[in-house]
Formats: sequence, structure tokens, C-alpha cells
Amino acid sequence: MGKIYIIDVTNRDGVQTAKLGLSKLAKTLINIELNEMGIFQSEFGFPTTHHDTMYLQANLELLRIGVLKPIRLAGWIRAIAQDVETTFKLVPDIKHLNLSTSTSDEMIQGKFMGKKNRGDILNTMLEAVNEAKAYGADSIGVNAEDASRTELDFLIKFGLKAKDHGAARLRYCDTLGYDNPFTIYQTTKALAENIGMPIEVHCHGDLGMAVANSIAGAKGVIDGGQDAYINTTINGIGERAGNADLVAVILAITKSKGFSEKYQLGNHIDLSKSWKIAKYASYAFDVPIPINQPGVGANAFAHASGIHANGMLKDASTYELYNFAELGRGEPSFVETGREICAGQYSGISGFRYVMDQIIGDEAISFHDDNEAEQILELVRYANVEAQKPLVEEELLFIAKYPEITKKILTLKPLDY
Ligand SMILES: [Zn+2]
Repeated sequence: MGKIYIIDVTNRDGVQTAKLGLSKLAKTLINIELNEMGIFQSEFGFPTTHHDTMYLQANLELLRIGVLKPIRLAGWIRAIAQDVETTFKLVPDIKHLNLSTSTSDEMIQGKFMGKKNRGDILNTMLEAVNEAKAYGADSIGVNAEDASRTELDFLIKFGLKAKDHGAARLRYCDTLGYDNPFTIYQTTKALAENIGMPIEVHCHGDLGMAVANSIAGAKGVIDGGQDAYINTTINGIGERAGNADLVAVILAITKSKGFSEKYQLGNHIDLSKSWKIAKYASYAFDVPIPINQPGVGANAFAHASGIHANGMLKDASTYELYNFAELGRGEPSFVETGREICAGQYSGISGFRYVMDQIIGDEAISFHDDNEAEQILELVRYANVEAQKPLVEEELLFIAKYPEITKKILTLKPLDY
């Protein structure tokens, strides 16, 4: 029986969303929080994009020293040999790659204007897979962009060829959010049966069905005899109407009617990290969490009407499917309403020391001497320039703990470029 694994793409699909972005430090902390939560893989960035280079290298260093473990860090590139080459030149230690190309006739026609046909798409993709293998990639996923508008036979051929050349997974991208749970189920089942390779489902919310499509697609893959991988983003942040929301997908798998009797997560996910990761992503993206967001919205456990409140006061299971504490909620949050000293890009040493002293319940932040404190402060200033908002406790702690890695994360230009 196949299992379900989560691949979060916040640091790739999330950050390519119009009008939104994340600092490299925020992307790093998201990788750390995804790892703590037990997420199988983070699509952590674009290895051919020069301003991502140092961030990607620094995060692979965090993997080497065991901070990002066991999560897999995968890069996303176009499925062309030249991109693979650039990837291994700029980020030589990268081990997991997703190679993406368009597969629907609409996209092939629309993008290449008659200069490419299906055969060209296949050949170019295979060259890229071969190249990635030659460079020693541990796992290669091939992404079929606009798969939901691609003829099934071609999609099967695309997957079979990729598999023959050593790809580990096919990503079925419902790029336009066109599928519904019934259609995606049929398609992913057929793909799993005919290709005999694990399938990823990548769903968008243009018709409000990203989460429903994700679990229906995963069910199709498992019924077809393979492991299923679901792509998510934190708070559903993604292009246009967004992607399948991480927390909602996990809730749908584990809490929806009868689903988990047969379809289960392949590894333990710590749902109690949900609140923290959703709040952090909301702060980092500067996008509030909708009050009706599943699990983490302000109203997700609020009751007012007479019949509901009366039921809740007697027995919580009357109007709630799951408990707030399971998501890590319940601690009152503290908002300063008086004087505040913040660490910013123009901070001085005494203000900074005061801020660090206020961080409680920690790994005891103590600086050996003024010189060390000054060095950390300099990094905090740079991090603040990049984030353009006050750094939160986790960010300050990270900088104090890993100053050398932070230095790399804050360097936007590759050293030898
Ligand atoms: Zn997408």
C-alpha cells in the first residue's frame, strides 16, 4: 500500500507569487520549521538564479551540520541540460532536483509558437535528466507543467521515458487549477498504473479545490499502486489563487471522514508545529492569515451562536473535529503596548544587547566579549536591511547561533561571479 509524503514548495512557488517575496533568512527559517514539523522535502529555491546561490549553499551547509535533517532540499529548474550544468556550477552540493517543462499542446504552442513539438519536449527533458544523473543527483523529479490539459497518452509516455532515464518521480501539475477531485483521481490513478513510478500532485486554487484535488489525486496514485507526494505551501500562498495549504492538506489526510483508514502519511508529521509555522510565514510574507483558515485562522475554534456555544461548553466534540492544542495553539500571545527597543539596521550595541537579553526561554544568548556582540549586531543590521521589518526572536537566535552561515545567507552575489 502506497503512502503519502509532503513536499512543501513555499520557497519556490510561494516566493514567485506576484507582489510577494521572502528574505533569504526567512526562507532559511521556513526550511528549519518544515524540518522540525517532519515534512519530507522543501523545494528550497532556484539554483540557476544568482541571487539564490549563497542562500542555497548556506542551507546545504545547515544540512551537513545536521540542522536541516532529515528533510530533503530540492532545487527547481527548467528541464534543459544547460540549466542542469549551471546548477552544478553554482550549487555543486545540491542532491535533489525538479526539472520542469510544459507538456500540454496549449503551452507548447503558446510558448514555443510552433518551434517545438512533443518530440522536442521529450528529447530536451531526457537530455536534462541524463545530465543531472551524470552530475550525480540523488533524486530527480520531472515536472509536467499544465499536466491537467495534457493528453493522457502523452503524459504516460513522458513519465515512462523519464523513468527509463532514471527519474524518481513525475510531478503532475494542475498549473491552472483546472482539475476537480473526480478528474484528477482518474488521471493520477492511470498515471501510477501505467508508468509504475511515484507521482506528485501539484494543485492550484483557481476553482477553490486545491486541497480537495490534492487528496483525491493522492488517492488515485495510491489506488494505482504507487506512493503519492503532495505539493503544499504554507498558508496556501502561491501564484494567483494559491496552492494547496500545508496544514489543511495534513488535516484533510488525517481527519477527514474515513480517509486515513486506507491512505496514510509515510512519516510522522508533528501537527503541533502548525500554529508556529503559519504565524511565521504570515509575518515573513506580510500576508495576514484569513480568520476562517482551517486550523490556524483566528475563528477556527471560535464559537458564538447559542446552540453551538451551549454544545461546546458541554462537550468539545459537538462542534469541533479536532482540538486546537493539536495544532500548537492555546498559549496566549504577548503584544507589547508600552516602550519597545527593537533591533534594526541602524541599531547600536547597547540597544542590541538589551534586545538579546529580553529573549527568554532560550539557549542562553551570551556573547564572549563586546567584539563578538558587535559582529552579531552587524549581521542583524544587514538582515534587517533585507527583511525591512523587525527581526523576530527565531531570526535573532539563528543569527547569534550561526553567524558564519548567516553571513553567506545575507550575501546576494556569488563570490566568484
Ligand atoms: Zn505551481
